[in-house]
Amino acid sequence: MDTKENITENKEEKAVTSNFIRSIIERDLASGKHKSIVTRFPPEPNGYLHIGHAKSICLNFGLAKDYQGRCHLRFDDSNPVKEDVEYVNSIMEDVHWLGFDWGEHLYYASDYFDKLYEFAEYLIKAGKAFVCDLSWEELKEYRGTLTVPGKDSPYRNRSIEENLDLFRRMKAGEFPEGSRTLRAKIDMASPNLNMRDPVIYRIKKTHHHRTGNDWQIYPMYDYTHCVSDALEGITHSICTLEFEDHRPLYDWFLDQLPVPCHPQQIEFARLNLAYTIMSKRLLLELVNNHLVSGWDDPRMPTIAGMRRRGFTPEAIRDFSERIGVSKANSLVDDELLMFCVREDLNKRAERRMVVVNPIKLTITNYPEGKIEEFDAENNPEDPSAGKRKIKFSRNLHIEKDDFSENPVKGWFRLALGKEVRLKYAYYITCNEVIKNEKGEIIELLCTYDEKSRGGWTEDGRKVKGTLHWVCAESAIPVELRLYDRLFTLADMSNMEEGKTYQDYLNPNSLIVKQNCLAEENLQEAKIGEHYQFLRIGYFNVDYNSKPGALIFNRIVDLKDSWAKLSKKI
Ligand code: ATP
Ligand code: MG
Repeated sequence: MDTKENITENKEEKAVTSNFIRSIIERDLASGKHKSIVTRFPPEPNGYLHIGHAKSICLNFGLAKDYQGRCHLRFDDSNPVKEDVEYVNSIMEDVHWLGFDWGEHLYYASDYFDKLYEFAEYLIKAGKAFVCDLSWEELKEYRGTLTVPGKDSPYRNRSIEENLDLFRRMKAGEFPEGSRTLRAKIDMASPNLNMRDPVIYRIKKTHHHRTGNDWQIYPMYDYTHCVSDALEGITHSICTLEFEDHRPLYDWFLDQLPVPCHPQQIEFARLNLAYTIMSKRLLLELVNNHLVSGWDDPRMPTIAGMRRRGFTPEAIRDFSERIGVSKANSLVDDELLMFCVREDLNKRAERRMVVVNPIKLTITNYPEGKIEEFDAENNPEDPSAGKRKIKFSRNLHIEKDDFSENPVKGWFRLALGKEVRLKYAYYITCNEVIKNEKGEIIELLCTYDEKSRGGWTEDGRKVKGTLHWVCAESAIPVELRLYDRLFTLADMSNMEEGKTYQDYLNPNSLIVKQNCLAEENLQEAKIGEHYQFLRIGYFNVDYNSKPGALIFNRIVDLKDSWAKLSKKI
Protein backbone atom coordinates (compact mmCIF):
# COMPACT_ATOMS: atom_id res chain seq x y z
CA MET A 1 0.00 0.00 0.00
CA ASP A 2 1.64 3.12 -1.15
CA THR A 3 -0.42 6.15 -0.32
CA LYS A 4 0.96 7.44 2.92
CA GLU A 5 3.20 9.93 1.20
CA ASN A 6 0.18 11.42 -0.51
CA ILE A 7 -1.15 12.87 2.69
CA THR A 8 -0.54 16.57 2.79
CA GLU A 9 -1.78 18.85 5.49
CA ASN A 10 -2.07 21.80 3.20
CA LYS A 11 -5.12 21.91 0.93
CA GLU A 12 -3.62 24.49 -1.41
CA GLU A 13 -0.58 22.40 -1.89
CA LYS A 14 -2.84 19.49 -2.80
CA ALA A 15 -4.79 21.53 -5.33
CA VAL A 16 -1.72 22.05 -7.47
CA THR A 17 -0.41 18.49 -7.22
CA SER A 18 0.42 17.63 -10.79
CA ASN A 19 0.43 14.31 -12.54
CA PHE A 20 1.35 12.95 -15.94
CA ILE A 21 -2.15 13.55 -17.33
CA ARG A 22 -2.06 17.20 -16.31
CA SER A 23 1.34 17.51 -17.95
CA ILE A 24 -0.04 16.17 -21.24
CA ILE A 25 -3.02 18.52 -21.08
CA GLU A 26 -0.89 21.54 -20.24
CA ARG A 27 1.46 20.75 -23.11
CA ASP A 28 -1.47 20.38 -25.53
CA LEU A 29 -2.98 23.68 -24.43
CA ALA A 30 0.38 25.48 -24.57
CA SER A 31 1.20 24.18 -28.04
CA GLY A 32 -2.24 25.14 -29.33
CA LYS A 33 -3.10 21.51 -30.20
CA HIS A 34 -6.34 22.14 -28.33
CA LYS A 35 -7.99 25.42 -27.39
CA SER A 36 -9.83 23.73 -24.57
CA ILE A 37 -10.13 20.18 -23.35
CA VAL A 38 -13.04 17.76 -23.55
CA THR A 39 -13.05 14.63 -21.37
CA ARG A 40 -15.74 12.06 -20.75
CA PHE A 41 -16.88 9.55 -18.17
CA PRO A 42 -18.19 6.49 -20.07
CA PRO A 43 -19.89 4.00 -17.73
CA GLU A 44 -21.56 0.88 -18.97
CA PRO A 45 -25.03 0.90 -17.39
CA ASN A 46 -24.78 -2.65 -16.08
CA GLY A 47 -24.48 -1.95 -12.38
CA TYR A 48 -24.17 0.75 -9.77
CA LEU A 49 -21.06 2.91 -9.64
CA HIS A 50 -18.39 2.14 -7.06
CA ILE A 51 -15.52 4.01 -5.45
CA GLY A 52 -13.28 3.11 -8.40
CA HIS A 53 -15.66 4.89 -10.73
CA ALA A 54 -15.61 7.82 -8.31
CA LYS A 55 -11.89 8.11 -8.97
CA SER A 56 -12.53 8.23 -12.72
CA ILE A 57 -15.39 10.73 -12.29
CA CYS A 58 -13.31 13.03 -10.09
CA LEU A 59 -10.44 12.78 -12.55
CA ASN A 60 -12.41 13.44 -15.75
CA PHE A 61 -14.82 16.05 -14.40
CA GLY A 62 -12.10 17.52 -12.21
CA LEU A 63 -9.68 18.04 -15.13
CA ALA A 64 -12.44 19.62 -17.22
CA LYS A 65 -13.21 22.02 -14.39
CA ASP A 66 -9.59 22.91 -13.65
CA TYR A 67 -8.78 23.63 -17.29
CA GLN A 68 -12.11 25.30 -18.13
CA GLY A 69 -13.05 22.55 -20.53
CA ARG A 70 -16.01 20.24 -20.35
CA CYS A 71 -16.73 16.64 -19.44
CA HIS A 72 -19.38 14.47 -21.07
CA LEU A 73 -21.38 11.77 -19.42
CA ARG A 74 -21.72 8.99 -21.95
CA PHE A 75 -23.50 5.73 -21.35
CA ASP A 76 -21.62 3.01 -23.12
CA ASP A 77 -24.77 1.03 -23.88
CA SER A 78 -23.57 -0.87 -26.94
CA ASN A 79 -24.16 -4.26 -25.30
CA PRO A 80 -27.94 -4.66 -25.04
CA VAL A 81 -28.05 -7.72 -22.81
CA LYS A 82 -26.98 -6.51 -19.42
CA GLU A 83 -28.18 -2.94 -19.38
CA ASP A 84 -30.97 -1.48 -17.39
CA VAL A 85 -32.71 1.88 -16.96
CA GLU A 86 -32.38 1.54 -13.18
CA TYR A 87 -28.61 1.66 -13.62
CA VAL A 88 -28.76 4.67 -15.94
CA ASN A 89 -30.73 6.62 -13.34
CA SER A 90 -28.52 5.56 -10.46
CA ILE A 91 -25.38 6.59 -12.37
CA MET A 92 -26.76 10.07 -13.07
CA GLU A 93 -27.76 10.47 -9.43
CA ASP A 94 -24.32 9.37 -8.25
CA VAL A 95 -22.38 11.71 -10.55
CA HIS A 96 -24.54 14.65 -9.44
CA TRP A 97 -24.20 13.69 -5.82
CA LEU A 98 -20.41 13.66 -6.17
CA GLY A 99 -20.77 17.29 -7.18
CA PHE A 100 -20.31 17.15 -10.95
CA ASP A 101 -22.53 18.14 -13.83
CA TRP A 102 -22.39 17.31 -17.51
CA GLY A 103 -24.73 20.17 -18.44
CA GLU A 104 -26.22 19.46 -21.86
CA HIS A 105 -23.54 16.89 -22.64
CA LEU A 106 -25.36 13.68 -21.88
CA TYR A 107 -24.80 11.02 -24.54
CA TYR A 108 -25.46 7.38 -25.21
CA ALA A 109 -23.28 5.20 -27.41
CA SER A 110 -26.57 3.94 -28.84
CA ASP A 111 -27.15 7.46 -30.24
CA TYR A 112 -24.34 6.65 -32.64
CA PHE A 113 -25.63 3.31 -33.91
CA ASP A 114 -26.54 4.80 -37.33
CA LYS A 115 -23.20 6.55 -37.66
CA LEU A 116 -21.30 3.47 -36.49
CA TYR A 117 -23.12 1.41 -39.09
CA GLU A 118 -22.30 3.93 -41.81
CA PHE A 119 -18.62 3.87 -40.79
CA ALA A 120 -18.65 0.07 -40.86
CA GLU A 121 -19.82 0.16 -44.49
CA TYR A 122 -17.08 2.72 -45.11
CA LEU A 123 -14.50 0.26 -43.80
CA ILE A 124 -15.93 -2.50 -45.99
CA LYS A 125 -15.81 -0.27 -49.05
CA ALA A 126 -12.20 0.64 -48.21
CA GLY A 127 -11.35 -3.07 -48.08
CA LYS A 128 -10.66 -2.78 -44.35
CA ALA A 129 -13.46 -5.00 -43.06
CA PHE A 130 -15.03 -8.30 -44.04
CA VAL A 131 -17.92 -10.54 -43.08
CA CYS A 132 -16.67 -13.73 -41.44
CA ASP A 133 -18.67 -16.96 -41.06
CA LEU A 134 -16.49 -18.53 -38.36
CA SER A 135 -18.28 -19.45 -35.16
CA TRP A 136 -17.17 -17.92 -31.83
CA GLU A 137 -15.23 -21.10 -31.02
CA GLU A 138 -13.52 -21.05 -34.39
CA LEU A 139 -12.74 -17.36 -34.03
CA LYS A 140 -11.01 -18.10 -30.78
CA GLU A 141 -9.04 -20.92 -32.30
CA TYR A 142 -7.98 -18.87 -35.35
CA ARG A 143 -6.96 -16.00 -33.13
CA GLY A 144 -3.91 -17.79 -31.77
CA THR A 145 -2.23 -16.88 -28.51
CA LEU A 146 0.58 -14.65 -27.31
CA THR A 147 3.06 -17.26 -28.53
CA VAL A 148 1.13 -18.71 -31.48
CA PRO A 149 0.31 -16.38 -34.38
CA GLY A 150 -3.25 -16.23 -35.61
CA LYS A 151 -4.55 -17.72 -38.86
CA ASP A 152 -6.34 -15.80 -41.59
CA SER A 153 -10.04 -16.47 -41.79
CA PRO A 154 -11.06 -18.39 -44.93
CA TYR A 155 -13.57 -15.56 -45.52
CA ARG A 156 -10.97 -12.80 -45.33
CA ASN A 157 -10.77 -12.29 -49.07
CA ARG A 158 -14.44 -11.91 -49.90
CA SER A 159 -15.15 -9.19 -52.43
CA ILE A 160 -16.27 -5.78 -51.26
CA GLU A 161 -19.65 -6.38 -52.96
CA GLU A 162 -20.20 -9.69 -51.18
CA ASN A 163 -19.16 -8.18 -47.85
CA LEU A 164 -21.54 -5.25 -48.31
CA ASP A 165 -24.40 -7.53 -49.29
CA LEU A 166 -23.83 -9.90 -46.36
CA PHE A 167 -23.41 -7.07 -43.85
CA ARG A 168 -26.66 -5.44 -45.00
CA ARG A 169 -28.42 -8.77 -44.67
CA MET A 170 -26.95 -9.21 -41.17
CA LYS A 171 -28.49 -5.86 -40.34
CA ALA A 172 -31.82 -6.93 -41.87
CA GLY A 173 -31.90 -9.90 -39.52
CA GLU A 174 -31.57 -12.61 -42.18
CA PHE A 175 -28.99 -14.67 -40.27
CA PRO A 176 -29.13 -16.36 -36.88
CA GLU A 177 -27.12 -15.14 -33.91
CA GLY A 178 -23.54 -16.32 -33.85
CA SER A 179 -23.50 -17.27 -37.54
CA ARG A 180 -21.57 -14.26 -38.84
CA THR A 181 -19.53 -11.28 -37.68
CA LEU A 182 -18.03 -8.23 -39.28
CA ARG A 183 -14.29 -8.07 -38.67
CA ALA A 184 -11.61 -5.46 -39.23
CA LYS A 185 -8.95 -6.58 -41.68
CA ILE A 186 -5.69 -5.76 -39.89
CA ASP A 187 -3.04 -8.39 -39.20
CA MET A 188 -3.47 -11.95 -37.90
CA ALA A 189 0.28 -12.13 -37.22
CA SER A 190 0.34 -9.04 -35.03
CA PRO A 191 1.98 -9.62 -31.63
CA ASN A 192 -0.94 -7.64 -30.22
CA LEU A 193 -3.97 -9.96 -30.04
CA ASN A 194 -6.31 -6.98 -30.25
CA MET A 195 -5.02 -6.30 -33.78
CA ARG A 196 -5.77 -9.79 -35.11
CA ASP A 197 -8.78 -8.93 -37.25
CA PRO A 198 -10.99 -8.03 -34.29
CA VAL A 199 -14.75 -8.38 -34.50
CA ILE A 200 -16.55 -5.07 -35.07
CA TYR A 201 -20.16 -6.24 -35.21
CA ARG A 202 -21.99 -9.31 -33.97
CA ILE A 203 -25.54 -10.50 -34.58
CA LYS A 204 -27.67 -10.15 -31.48
CA LYS A 205 -31.45 -10.30 -31.60
CA THR A 206 -31.92 -8.61 -28.30
CA HIS A 207 -34.14 -5.75 -27.21
CA HIS A 208 -32.15 -2.62 -26.38
CA HIS A 209 -33.28 -0.32 -23.58
CA ARG A 210 -33.18 2.70 -25.91
CA THR A 211 -33.34 1.49 -29.51
CA GLY A 212 -35.89 -1.24 -28.86
CA ASN A 213 -35.88 -3.87 -31.62
CA ASP A 214 -34.39 -1.61 -34.29
CA TRP A 215 -31.10 -3.46 -34.44
CA GLN A 216 -30.22 -7.10 -35.09
CA ILE A 217 -26.50 -6.35 -34.99
CA TYR A 218 -24.56 -4.53 -32.29
CA PRO A 219 -21.09 -2.92 -32.45
CA MET A 220 -18.26 -4.11 -30.20
CA TYR A 221 -16.79 -1.97 -27.44
CA ASP A 222 -13.39 -1.21 -29.01
CA TYR A 223 -15.01 0.05 -32.19
CA THR A 224 -17.84 1.93 -30.48
CA HIS A 225 -15.69 3.63 -27.94
CA CYS A 226 -13.15 5.39 -30.14
CA VAL A 227 -15.78 6.44 -32.67
CA SER A 228 -18.01 7.84 -29.90
CA ASP A 229 -15.04 9.78 -28.51
CA ALA A 230 -14.24 11.21 -31.93
CA LEU A 231 -17.84 12.14 -32.74
CA GLU A 232 -18.10 14.06 -29.48
CA GLY A 233 -14.83 15.91 -30.02
CA ILE A 234 -13.16 14.40 -26.97
CA THR A 235 -9.57 15.62 -26.69
CA HIS A 236 -8.27 13.30 -23.96
CA SER A 237 -9.82 9.87 -23.58
CA ILE A 238 -8.73 8.74 -20.15
CA CYS A 239 -9.15 5.07 -19.30
CA THR A 240 -7.67 2.39 -17.05
CA LEU A 241 -4.43 0.50 -17.71
CA GLU A 242 -5.98 -2.67 -19.06
CA PHE A 243 -6.83 -0.71 -22.23
CA GLU A 244 -3.20 0.06 -22.95
CA ASP A 245 -3.01 -2.91 -25.35
CA HIS A 246 -6.19 -1.70 -27.03
CA ARG A 247 -4.73 1.70 -27.86
CA PRO A 248 -3.26 0.61 -31.23
CA LEU A 249 -6.74 -0.55 -32.23
CA TYR A 250 -8.30 2.69 -30.96
CA ASP A 251 -5.87 4.59 -33.16
CA TRP A 252 -6.25 2.24 -36.12
CA PHE A 253 -10.02 2.75 -36.35
CA LEU A 254 -9.70 6.51 -36.09
CA ASP A 255 -6.94 6.55 -38.72
CA GLN A 256 -9.12 4.63 -41.20
CA LEU A 257 -12.38 6.52 -40.69
CA PRO A 258 -13.44 10.01 -41.80
CA VAL A 259 -14.00 11.11 -38.21
CA PRO A 260 -13.91 14.78 -37.15
CA CYS A 261 -10.94 14.40 -34.79
CA HIS A 262 -8.54 11.90 -33.25
CA PRO A 263 -8.67 11.93 -29.43
CA GLN A 264 -5.64 10.80 -27.46
CA GLN A 265 -6.16 7.75 -25.27
CA ILE A 266 -4.33 7.99 -21.95
CA GLU A 267 -4.24 5.15 -19.44
CA PHE A 268 -3.95 5.38 -15.66
CA ALA A 269 -3.93 2.78 -12.88
CA ARG A 270 -7.36 1.83 -11.60
CA LEU A 271 -8.15 2.19 -7.94
CA ASN A 272 -7.91 -1.01 -5.93
CA LEU A 273 -9.03 -0.58 -2.35
CA ALA A 274 -8.03 -2.91 0.47
CA TYR A 275 -10.71 -5.31 1.81
CA THR A 276 -12.95 -4.55 -1.15
CA ILE A 277 -14.00 -5.99 -4.47
CA MET A 278 -14.91 -3.69 -7.30
CA SER A 279 -16.05 -5.91 -10.11
CA LYS A 280 -19.62 -5.02 -10.98
CA ARG A 281 -20.32 -8.66 -11.72
CA LEU A 282 -19.31 -9.71 -8.21
CA LEU A 283 -21.13 -6.79 -6.62
CA LEU A 284 -24.26 -7.85 -8.49
CA GLU A 285 -23.78 -11.37 -7.16
CA LEU A 286 -23.60 -10.06 -3.60
CA VAL A 287 -26.92 -8.32 -4.20
CA ASN A 288 -28.61 -11.24 -5.98
CA ASN A 289 -27.47 -13.77 -3.39
CA HIS A 290 -28.75 -11.53 -0.59
CA LEU A 291 -25.32 -11.38 0.99
CA VAL A 292 -25.97 -7.66 1.35
CA SER A 293 -29.29 -5.83 1.56
CA GLY A 294 -28.95 -4.23 -1.89
CA TRP A 295 -26.71 -2.05 -4.06
CA ASP A 296 -26.94 0.64 -1.39
CA ASP A 297 -26.12 -1.59 1.56
CA PRO A 298 -23.88 0.68 3.68
CA ARG A 299 -21.11 -1.94 3.56
CA MET A 300 -20.94 -1.90 -0.23
CA PRO A 301 -18.15 0.01 -2.00
CA THR A 302 -20.81 1.54 -4.22
CA ILE A 303 -21.40 5.27 -4.23
CA ALA A 304 -25.03 4.58 -3.31
CA GLY A 305 -23.89 2.47 -0.34
CA MET A 306 -21.41 5.08 0.80
CA ARG A 307 -24.03 7.82 0.49
CA ARG A 308 -26.48 5.85 2.58
CA ARG A 309 -23.84 5.10 5.17
CA GLY A 310 -23.11 8.82 5.45
CA PHE A 311 -19.88 9.36 3.53
CA THR A 312 -19.86 12.86 2.07
CA PRO A 313 -19.02 13.81 -1.53
CA GLU A 314 -16.38 16.17 -0.14
CA ALA A 315 -14.63 13.26 1.59
CA ILE A 316 -14.71 11.11 -1.53
CA ARG A 317 -13.37 13.93 -3.70
CA ASP A 318 -10.61 14.55 -1.16
CA PHE A 319 -9.76 10.85 -1.20
CA SER A 320 -9.55 10.82 -5.02
CA GLU A 321 -7.23 13.78 -4.93
CA ARG A 322 -4.99 12.24 -2.29
CA ILE A 323 -4.60 8.88 -4.03
CA GLY A 324 -3.45 10.72 -7.14
CA VAL A 325 -3.01 9.34 -10.63
CA SER A 326 -0.28 6.96 -11.62
CA LYS A 327 0.73 4.38 -14.19
CA ALA A 328 1.39 1.62 -11.66
CA ASN A 329 -1.30 -0.57 -10.14
CA SER A 330 -1.37 -0.60 -6.36
CA LEU A 331 -3.60 -1.36 -3.43
CA VAL A 332 -4.85 1.66 -1.51
CA ASP A 333 -5.31 1.35 2.26
CA ASP A 334 -8.99 1.70 3.17
CA GLU A 335 -7.88 3.65 6.27
CA LEU A 336 -7.01 6.52 3.95
CA LEU A 337 -10.63 6.74 2.86
CA MET A 338 -11.75 6.62 6.49
CA PHE A 339 -9.25 9.35 7.33
CA CYS A 340 -10.79 11.60 4.64
CA VAL A 341 -14.28 10.89 5.96
CA ARG A 342 -13.27 11.76 9.54
CA GLU A 343 -11.50 14.92 8.43
CA ASP A 344 -14.60 16.18 6.70
CA LEU A 345 -17.14 15.11 9.32
CA ASN A 346 -15.08 16.51 12.16
CA LYS A 347 -15.79 19.96 10.74
CA ARG A 348 -19.46 19.52 10.06
CA ALA A 349 -20.98 16.88 12.35
CA GLU A 350 -22.72 18.11 15.50
CA ARG A 351 -21.82 16.27 18.70
CA ARG A 352 -24.36 14.30 20.68
CA MET A 353 -24.22 11.75 23.49
CA VAL A 354 -25.46 8.20 22.99
CA VAL A 355 -24.88 5.22 25.24
CA VAL A 356 -24.53 1.95 23.31
CA ASN A 357 -24.58 -0.57 26.19
CA PRO A 358 -26.32 1.25 29.02
CA ILE A 359 -25.94 0.61 32.72
CA LYS A 360 -27.89 2.51 35.39
CA LEU A 361 -26.03 5.08 37.41
CA THR A 362 -27.72 6.76 40.37
CA ILE A 363 -26.36 9.86 42.05
CA THR A 364 -27.41 9.25 45.60
CA ASN A 365 -26.74 12.76 46.90
CA TYR A 366 -28.61 14.46 44.05
CA PRO A 367 -32.19 15.53 44.92
CA GLU A 368 -34.94 13.26 43.66
CA GLY A 369 -37.13 14.84 41.00
CA LYS A 370 -34.67 17.64 40.29
CA ILE A 371 -33.77 18.21 36.65
CA GLU A 372 -31.19 20.74 35.60
CA GLU A 373 -29.80 21.66 32.23
CA PHE A 374 -26.28 22.04 30.97
CA ASP A 375 -24.97 23.86 27.95
CA ALA A 376 -23.17 21.63 25.52
CA GLU A 377 -21.17 22.75 22.51
CA ASN A 378 -22.58 21.40 19.29
CA ASN A 379 -19.21 21.36 17.60
CA PRO A 380 -15.94 22.43 19.21
CA GLU A 381 -14.48 22.75 15.69
CA ASP A 382 -17.17 25.20 14.64
CA PRO A 383 -18.36 27.77 17.20
CA SER A 384 -21.08 28.92 14.78
CA ALA A 385 -22.82 25.57 15.38
CA GLY A 386 -23.88 27.00 18.76
CA LYS A 387 -24.89 25.19 21.92
CA ARG A 388 -27.68 22.96 23.09
CA LYS A 389 -29.22 22.16 26.46
CA ILE A 390 -28.79 18.71 27.97
CA LYS A 391 -30.91 17.49 30.86
CA PHE A 392 -29.34 16.02 33.96
CA SER A 393 -30.97 14.21 36.86
CA ARG A 394 -30.32 11.77 39.70
CA ASN A 395 -30.87 8.83 37.34
CA LEU A 396 -28.42 8.42 34.49
CA HIS A 397 -26.97 5.77 32.18
CA ILE A 398 -23.36 5.32 31.19
CA GLU A 399 -21.58 2.67 29.10
CA LYS A 400 -21.27 -0.64 30.86
CA ASP A 401 -17.66 -0.82 29.68
CA ASP A 402 -16.82 2.47 31.33
CA PHE A 403 -16.98 0.82 34.75
CA SER A 404 -14.57 -1.82 35.94
CA GLU A 405 -14.82 -3.79 39.15
CA ASN A 406 -11.21 -4.87 38.81
CA PRO A 407 -9.51 -1.95 37.16
CA VAL A 408 -6.22 -2.67 35.45
CA LYS A 409 -3.26 -0.41 36.10
CA GLY A 410 -3.77 2.90 34.32
CA TRP A 411 -7.57 2.56 34.18
CA PHE A 412 -8.91 6.11 34.16
CA ARG A 413 -12.60 5.44 33.76
CA LEU A 414 -15.01 4.63 36.56
CA ALA A 415 -14.23 2.13 39.34
CA LEU A 416 -15.11 1.82 43.01
CA GLY A 417 -13.71 4.81 44.88
CA LYS A 418 -12.63 6.52 41.65
CA GLU A 419 -13.64 9.97 40.52
CA VAL A 420 -14.39 10.85 36.87
CA ARG A 421 -15.99 13.72 35.02
CA LEU A 422 -19.38 13.35 33.38
CA LYS A 423 -19.01 15.40 30.22
CA TYR A 424 -20.49 18.92 30.55
CA ALA A 425 -21.92 18.03 34.02
CA TYR A 426 -20.20 17.11 37.30
CA TYR A 427 -17.43 15.12 38.90
CA ILE A 428 -18.78 11.89 40.32
CA THR A 429 -17.30 9.15 42.52
CA CYS A 430 -18.52 5.58 42.55
CA ASN A 431 -19.24 4.16 46.00
CA GLU A 432 -21.17 0.95 45.50
CA VAL A 433 -22.30 -1.54 42.88
CA ILE A 434 -25.62 -3.37 42.90
CA LYS A 435 -25.77 -6.86 41.41
CA ASN A 436 -28.58 -9.20 40.41
CA GLU A 437 -28.93 -12.84 41.51
CA LYS A 438 -26.55 -13.92 38.76
CA GLY A 439 -23.89 -11.63 40.10
CA GLU A 440 -24.08 -9.17 37.21
CA ILE A 441 -23.72 -5.50 37.92
CA ILE A 442 -27.02 -3.75 37.25
CA GLU A 443 -26.54 -0.38 38.88
CA LEU A 444 -23.78 1.93 40.04
CA LEU A 445 -24.31 4.15 43.07
CA CYS A 446 -22.32 7.36 42.95
CA THR A 447 -22.10 10.75 44.62
CA TYR A 448 -21.42 14.02 42.86
CA ASP A 449 -19.47 17.11 43.83
CA GLU A 450 -21.93 19.98 43.64
CA LYS A 451 -19.05 22.42 43.20
CA SER A 452 -17.87 20.79 39.97
CA ARG A 453 -20.78 22.11 37.90
CA GLY A 454 -19.94 22.22 34.21
CA GLY A 455 -17.22 19.65 34.72
CA TRP A 456 -14.61 21.79 36.54
CA THR A 457 -13.74 22.21 40.20
CA GLU A 458 -12.71 25.38 41.99
CA ASP A 459 -9.78 23.68 43.64
CA GLY A 460 -8.46 22.68 40.25
CA ARG A 461 -8.59 19.00 41.16
CA LYS A 462 -7.94 16.92 38.06
CA VAL A 463 -9.56 13.71 36.92
CA LYS A 464 -8.30 11.67 34.02
CA GLY A 465 -11.51 10.18 32.72
CA THR A 466 -14.40 11.96 31.04
CA LEU A 467 -17.43 9.83 30.31
CA HIS A 468 -20.47 10.34 28.13
CA TRP A 469 -23.85 9.69 29.70
CA VAL A 470 -27.57 10.21 29.22
CA CYS A 471 -30.30 11.26 31.60
CA ALA A 472 -32.67 8.37 32.28
CA GLU A 473 -35.72 10.65 32.52
CA SER A 474 -35.28 12.14 29.05
CA ALA A 475 -33.16 9.73 26.96
CA ILE A 476 -34.71 8.06 23.92
CA PRO A 477 -34.06 4.52 22.67
CA VAL A 478 -32.39 4.30 19.26
CA GLU A 479 -30.94 1.63 17.01
CA LEU A 480 -27.29 1.78 15.99
CA ARG A 481 -25.87 -0.17 13.07
CA LEU A 482 -22.15 -0.70 13.43
CA TYR A 483 -20.30 -1.62 10.26
CA ASP A 484 -16.99 -3.26 9.64
CA ARG A 485 -15.17 -4.25 6.46
CA LEU A 486 -17.21 -6.53 4.24
CA PHE A 487 -14.22 -8.80 3.57
CA THR A 488 -11.45 -10.16 5.75
CA LEU A 489 -8.67 -10.20 3.15
CA ALA A 490 -6.79 -6.99 2.35
CA ASP A 491 -5.87 -7.89 -1.21
CA MET A 492 -8.94 -9.55 -2.66
CA SER A 493 -7.10 -10.20 -5.93
CA ASN A 494 -4.91 -12.56 -3.97
CA MET A 495 -7.36 -15.17 -2.67
CA GLU A 496 -6.11 -18.63 -1.75
CA GLU A 497 -6.49 -21.20 -4.49
CA GLY A 498 -9.90 -22.79 -4.60
CA LYS A 499 -11.50 -20.05 -2.54
CA THR A 500 -13.99 -17.47 -3.70
CA TYR A 501 -14.81 -14.04 -2.35
CA GLN A 502 -17.64 -15.64 -0.38
CA ASP A 503 -15.04 -17.43 1.76
CA TYR A 504 -13.75 -14.06 2.85
CA LEU A 505 -17.00 -12.41 3.90
CA ASN A 506 -16.67 -10.88 7.34
CA PRO A 507 -19.42 -12.34 9.58
CA ASN A 508 -19.19 -9.25 11.81
CA SER A 509 -19.51 -6.67 9.06
CA LEU A 510 -22.85 -5.56 10.52
CA ILE A 511 -23.73 -5.47 14.20
CA VAL A 512 -27.14 -4.11 15.09
CA LYS A 513 -27.49 -2.59 18.54
CA GLN A 514 -31.02 -1.99 19.67
CA ASN A 515 -32.16 -0.01 22.69
CA CYS A 516 -29.18 2.23 22.82
CA LEU A 517 -29.99 5.41 24.72
CA ALA A 518 -29.61 8.81 23.12
CA GLU A 519 -29.85 12.30 24.57
CA GLU A 520 -33.26 13.85 24.01
CA ASN A 521 -31.95 16.34 21.42
CA LEU A 522 -31.69 13.56 18.86
CA GLN A 523 -35.47 13.24 18.81
CA GLU A 524 -35.52 15.69 15.91
CA ALA A 525 -32.77 13.99 13.88
CA LYS A 526 -33.57 13.98 10.17
CA ILE A 527 -32.73 11.34 7.59
CA GLY A 528 -29.27 11.93 6.11
CA GLU A 529 -27.99 14.12 8.95
CA HIS A 530 -24.49 13.54 10.30
CA TYR A 531 -23.55 13.41 13.96
CA GLN A 532 -20.58 12.58 16.06
CA PHE A 533 -21.62 10.51 19.05
CA LEU A 534 -18.97 11.27 21.63
CA ARG A 535 -16.38 8.50 21.87
CA ILE A 536 -18.47 6.20 19.64
CA GLY A 537 -18.03 7.49 16.11
CA TYR A 538 -19.62 9.41 13.29
CA PHE A 539 -23.18 8.46 12.46
CA ASN A 540 -25.76 9.14 9.80
CA VAL A 541 -29.54 8.87 10.11
CA ASP A 542 -30.60 5.93 7.94
CA TYR A 543 -33.38 6.39 5.42
CA ASN A 544 -35.50 3.75 7.16
CA SER A 545 -35.43 5.82 10.30
CA LYS A 546 -38.74 7.17 11.66
CA PRO A 547 -39.57 9.56 14.47
CA GLY A 548 -39.76 7.40 17.56
CA ALA A 549 -37.78 4.62 15.87
CA LEU A 550 -34.52 6.24 14.92
CA ILE A 551 -31.84 4.24 13.12
CA PHE A 552 -28.24 5.45 12.86
CA ASN A 553 -25.51 4.03 10.62
CA ARG A 554 -22.00 4.26 11.96
CA ILE A 555 -20.01 5.85 9.17
CA VAL A 556 -16.65 5.40 10.85
CA ASP A 557 -15.31 5.17 14.37
CA LEU A 558 -13.18 7.89 15.92
CA LYS A 559 -9.94 6.01 16.17
CA ASP A 560 -7.73 7.84 13.84
CA SER A 561 -5.07 5.32 13.11
CA TRP A 562 -4.30 6.90 9.78
CA ALA A 563 -3.57 10.32 11.25
CA LYS A 564 -1.41 8.75 13.96
CA LEU A 565 0.39 6.71 11.38
CA SER A 566 1.03 9.60 9.03
CA LYS A 567 2.30 11.81 11.85
CA LYS A 568 4.94 9.24 12.66
CA ILE A 569 6.24 9.25 9.13
P1 ATP B 1 -16.38 -3.73 -14.33
O1 ATP B 1 -15.11 -4.33 -14.86
O2 ATP B 1 -16.62 -3.99 -12.91
O3 ATP B 1 -17.58 -4.00 -15.17
P2 ATP B 1 -15.82 -1.37 -15.75
O4 ATP B 1 -14.48 -0.80 -15.63
O5 ATP B 1 -16.09 -2.17 -16.97
O6 ATP B 1 -16.15 -2.16 -14.43
P3 ATP B 1 -17.31 0.81 -16.70
O7 ATP B 1 -18.72 1.13 -16.48
O8 ATP B 1 -16.88 0.42 -18.05
O9 ATP B 1 -16.92 -0.27 -15.63
O10 ATP B 1 -16.39 2.00 -16.18
C1 ATP B 1 -16.60 3.34 -16.51
C2 ATP B 1 -15.31 4.08 -16.34
O11 ATP B 1 -14.85 3.96 -15.00
C3 ATP B 1 -14.24 3.54 -17.25
O12 ATP B 1 -13.60 4.64 -17.87
C4 ATP B 1 -13.32 2.81 -16.31
O13 ATP B 1 -12.01 2.87 -16.77
C5 ATP B 1 -13.51 3.56 -15.00
N1 ATP B 1 -13.26 2.69 -13.86
C6 ATP B 1 -13.87 1.53 -13.58
N2 ATP B 1 -13.34 0.96 -12.48
C7 ATP B 1 -12.36 1.79 -12.05
C8 ATP B 1 -11.43 1.76 -10.97
N3 ATP B 1 -11.40 0.75 -10.09
N4 ATP B 1 -10.57 2.79 -10.84
C9 ATP B 1 -10.60 3.81 -11.71
N5 ATP B 1 -11.44 3.89 -12.75
C10 ATP B 1 -12.31 2.90 -12.94
MG1 MG C 1 -16.09 -1.46 -18.98
